[in-house]
Amino acid sequence: MADLISIDEARRRVLAEVRPLEAEAVPLEQALGRVLGADVASRVDVPPFDTSAMDGFAVASVEAGHLEVVGESRAGHPCPVAVREGTAVAVSTGAAIPEGTVAVVPVERTAASGASVRVEAVRENANVRRAGEDVRAGTPVMRAGCDLDPAALGVLAGVGTAAPLCSRKPRVALSATGDELVEPGGQLGPGRIWSSNPVALAGQTASAGGQVVETGTVPDDPGATREAIERALCLADVVCVSGGVSVGAHDHVKGALAELGVRERFWGVALQPGKPTWFGVAERPGGRVLVFGLPGNPVSAMVTFQLFARPALRALQGAEPRPRAASAVLDQPLRRNARRDQAVRCRLSAEHDGWHVVSTGPQGSHVMTSMLGADALAIVPAGEGDLAAGERVRLELLDHGV
Ligand code: AMP
Ligand code: MG
Repeated sequence: MADLISIDEARRRVLAEVRPLEAEAVPLEQALGRVLGADVASRVDVPPFDTSAMDGFAVASVEAGHLEVVGESRAGHPCPVAVREGTAVAVSTGAAIPEGTVAVVPVERTAASGASVRVEAVRENANVRRAGEDVRAGTPVMRAGCDLDPAALGVLAGVGTAAPLCSRKPRVALSATGDELVEPGGQLGPGRIWSSNPVALAGQTASAGGQVVETGTVPDDPGATREAIERALCLADVVCVSGGVSVGAHDHVKGALAELGVRERFWGVALQPGKPTWFGVAERPGGRVLVFGLPGNPVSAMVTFQLFARPALRALQGAEPRPRAASAVLDQPLRRNARRDQAVRCRLSAEHDGWHVVSTGPQGSHVMTSMLGADALAIVPAGEGDLAAGERVRLELLDHGV
């Protein structure tokens, strides 16, 4: 691991290996969190016809007056009668306005008696929504790569798209290595710990739009490690192995990857935590597989997933890069690392002059609770001394939830 590369260079090498996945039609009710796989245009204007924005009376003149009510147009039930000088048509919000309408007088500004109505004066076009005001037929409303959040689903539904084309979810296999690992809730023997990486990485996978197809725990044994990775390579678009990727006598991941023909693209990033991160590519009959060897320490595994695997999962879905990088004012000094950039888990607060950050506390790579409530990673550049309070620091925003 002689030549450590920068975070940005590592990410560049990862993205260079991504080949976006194919698209599939997904029913709207299952499409939340997916990435749109093709541009969407509306076949019709939205709204599709001129509509009333209020309950009231459609009129053919802007003057106040006493008018004969000649019909009613309700939402979903248009009125076949046109409105002319001296007449009015009762309209509901969302109803098609009758031919001849110049404005709608809201019901609060009218007084009806029998078949006639007194209306106040009104501005031309008042309370009228014209066809196509929201979306014009034939014009794109959303581009491929757009994240399908609740608003996007609403817009798709509003233009009549029932099953948008979405990029396939990347299939992700997660393997945790280590003789010491016990499933959460299992009996701890001497020297054993509960395994936290698979569940945390599975959560990050879901947040990034991936689908976990396999999780496994692998003992520190060369044959078992090779078998587990070989199996994962057959199932997944992305394989993340945690632990066993350093240079210890019982670290077998790199050896197994080499035997399986996974081509190394980097090993070692100038990053704390996360130095022994490995990345490579395997070609398989089912397609290309991206393989991440993440350090075993729980914080290192989560940080390196965020910085390297997450961008790969997003790019596999053709997602538009979201502005994850930002900056904020540091509210406390942070000691720099002489040789490596640090990813410091931070909490954000909105102050009168913008965003500020403080560290979540002790930052050891085994201190899993330092990830709790973290909004962002502050990237403290390598160097001597402290990054002083009051300086601006680059941030990588973290996802919360799915
Ligand atoms: P390694 O990268 O295998 O040398 O592991 C580094 C540290 O991370 C060791 O203290 C391991 O016990 C710990 N570790 C590895 N895998 C896990 C896991 N799945 N859950 C919790 N800790 C782990
Ligand atoms: Mg280990």
